[in-house]
Amino acid sequence: MAKKRRKRKLKLRYEAVKFLSYFILILCLIIYSVHGSIKIHNFYEYRKTDEYKILSMGYTMEETQDFLKIINKDIKEFLINNSKKKVYYDIIKEKYFLSKNYLKYIDYQKNHEDIKLDKVIALVNVHASDGWYSETYNTDLSKKDLVLVNKFYKLEEGYKRDDLVPISLQYSYASNSAAEEVVNSFIQMHKEVKSKLGIHLMVNSSFRSYEDQEAIYKSFKAKGETYADSYAARPGFSEHQTGLSIDITSTAHPTINAFKESEEYQWLKDNSYKYGFILRYPEGKEDITGYNTESWHFRYVGKKVAEQIFKEGITFDEYYAYYLES
Ligand SMILES: [Zn+2]
Repeated sequence: MAKKRRKRKLKLRYEAVKFLSYFILILCLIIYSVHGSIKIHNFYEYRKTDEYKILSMGYTMEETQDFLKIINKDIKEFLINNSKKKVYYDIIKEKYFLSKNYLKYIDYQKNHEDIKLDKVIALVNVHASDGWYSETYNTDLSKKDLVLVNKFYKLEEGYKRDDLVPISLQYSYASNSAAEEVVNSFIQMHKEVKSKLGIHLMVNSSFRSYEDQEAIYKSFKAKGETYADSYAARPGFSEHQTGLSIDITSTAHPTINAFKESEEYQWLKDNSYKYGFILRYPEGKEDITGYNTESWHFRYVGKKVAEQIFKEGITFDEYYAYYLES
């Protein structure tokens, strides 16, 4: 009897262990499949991310992460609809890259493969890639001493600064005027370079009104618009109307012709930034400024900005597009 009871007890225990084993096994299966479906779900969600989409175009994780830093709707659409190309990535590593211009860079580069990427960036940033005067805008006067006037940004007909002051004939060849701060900075520069090097700088031309510029442009236009545009700014598009530009020569080299060969020019090119001036139309940047090099034309932008422009070796147009406009 006791033997029979023990046997039943053992059987019961065996059944319990069996049940528990099955229970654990089923539990494990449930956990595993839930975990798996979470994983599948996560992957499904990941496939929708920009990271996955860019990676699957063949870009590396590092390149993809760099793209993600600058991504917008247009860049994303472009990248996932166009086969991977080295230049699509290289362009974003350029110093003056602006994400808003990404598609314009790509488009311009496609048609000008011989032009280096840094030049593509510069040309697009300043609108030069569109062609001179192709689209023009009223310039932003709130930029004050950093106002931009070039072949895209213009001043209105009646615009004239209210702080223009005459420049004494001691420093100027004719009756000229410019913004007070500009005149003061020029005089300081004039005095210092005169006492240090015996160089006698002079103002050749400074503020010009819209009407003055209109007359100048008209005189060139008699020989055709292309001719006129290569020698003079159209009215409203001359930096001289800002009152912040001065054409500088010297008593030893009074005319602008051959001023480039003078010691005065060399000094101004390398030192005028210390007084807040920059060489506005430098050599080698004609395609960015739209002007043949003018060794005499200096623009006042203040000491801080002048130093930065000088040290970075960029034009004011490039500085404006990258640091002020974007
Ligand atoms: Zn000038």
